[in-house]
Amino acid sequence: KVRVRFAPSPTGGLHLGGVRTVLYNYLFARQHGGDFVLRIEDTDQSRYVPGAEEYIYECLKWCGLDPDESPLKGGPHAPYRQSERKELYRQYAEFLVQEGKAYYAFDRPEELESMRERFKTAENPSPQYDHKVRQEMRNSCSLTFEETQRMLNDGVPHVIRIRMPENDTVTFTDMIRGEVSFNTGLVDDKVLLKADGMPTYHLAVVVDDYLMKITHAFRGEEWLPSSPVHILLWKYLGWEEQMPQWAHLPLILKPDGNGKLSKRDGDRLGFPVFAMNWTVPAKGDTKEELIKGFRELGFMPEAFVNLLAMLGWNDGTDQELFTIDELKEKFSMDRVHKGGAKFDFEKAKWFNHEWIKRSDVARLKPDVKQIFDQHGLAAADDKLEKVINLVKERCTLLTDFVEQGKFFFETPQQWDLEAIKPKWNDAKQAFFGDAIGYFQDQTNWNAAADLENGFKELAAARQIKPGEVLLPLRIMLVGGKFGPGVFEIASIIGKEETVGRIKAVLE
Ligand code: GLU
Repeated sequence: KVRVRFAPSPTGGLHLGGVRTVLYNYLFARQHGGDFVLRIEDTDQSRYVPGAEEYIYECLKWCGLDPDESPLKGGPHAPYRQSERKELYRQYAEFLVQEGKAYYAFDRPEELESMRERFKTAENPSPQYDHKVRQEMRNSCSLTFEETQRMLNDGVPHVIRIRMPENDTVTFTDMIRGEVSFNTGLVDDKVLLKADGMPTYHLAVVVDDYLMKITHAFRGEEWLPSSPVHILLWKYLGWEEQMPQWAHLPLILKPDGNGKLSKRDGDRLGFPVFAMNWTVPAKGDTKEELIKGFRELGFMPEAFVNLLAMLGWNDGTDQELFTIDELKEKFSMDRVHKGGAKFDFEKAKWFNHEWIKRSDVARLKPDVKQIFDQHGLAAADDKLEKVINLVKERCTLLTDFVEQGKFFFETPQQWDLEAIKPKWNDAKQAFFGDAIGYFQDQTNWNAAADLENGFKELAAARQIKPGEVLLPLRIMLVGGKFGPGVFEIASIIGKEETVGRIKAVLE
């Protein structure tokens, strides 16, 4: 049975790339009738950020990408939080030591530092802990068996490191990249188990993928350099047969294609990179900082998911708009690109605009209502529905409904009078005086077309071109030169309000 996992470390808000990894995992699982596991990789407690785990749950919920197994949901392989599995990992590290594939290392921080000083060269300013220096350090490769035992018995703090072969090749087939090879001599002897008994990510990810029976492991391309370590661990632990199939997903690049999109870029380039608002905690002399997310900016989750799917994949046709059900049907790993995908915020907004246009009022109403509430706009349900239908074409973001819709519920406080003044004259003043009477006499306020015809006839009778009075009417009702059909607006705000707004400007 297909089993995939998303295995984030709770170190911050989820950015575009993280959610895309979730999405591809989710689609693959749904497509194959498999399970989608969420595992929290929190073994590096120095990088743990409070709130990050909750953020992940909320984000997955917002996107509608709920896992089948998770710390919250539980499941057959619980616990799903690595810190709660701490005791489990040591035995595997010890096993590797017995097999000669790993070793105890007793080096103190100052010894590691002095090694870096001693071995650094112009070409290699930060030497690794690897076969070149291994013998020079205090570890069970350089010490005698007795010395090692004594130090272990004395409780000398130590880590366990993988012993990377000096000159070997690790090869595996990536579902996206095809055959990938690494020379093991270039990879350092990564720590597997830390002095406090916590595993590092490298050990924990392999042990848990094995114990949780993961069949396919999809993750960002930034993990590709770690893959030789993981593959050797699968082999050394004797689990090679069960090793998952790997897919390293393409990077998401800055809009100009120049390098990876980083969490900081959003702010600098003026668009969000986080799924939802994320408050970066204060550190050192930096202040706590709120970074806007796609959700709060007014993206629909359907659009967000859709645009993420297209960052690195297409179905081979020109189709760009996909529902999640269509994606479940059409997505395939072998159509994921190798190269990085440029992120284009204008395009992202285009997706959202399309999604607002194609969504019906029942879908949009709860979101728009919530945004209206946040802006202190009280909107009665039936009126809100009419407004949504009337203005949705004009809204790129859900938050645009405020600007595009608020004048239906509130009398404008400011008017763009500059747009009327230059051409204003007594004839127009008199005309609007009559128009007030005309509107007051109307009984059928639901018929926008009738209101319009009557208004235009009135203008014709006074030899005024309709165009000359339509803009002023719009500005009186709306405040500015925008909005849907002006008689539609009048019909929705009602007789009293229409007349009141005309009077407010005329007087
Ligand atoms: N814990 C890793 C991360 O934070 C997961 C990488 C993987 O999926 O193997 O992204």
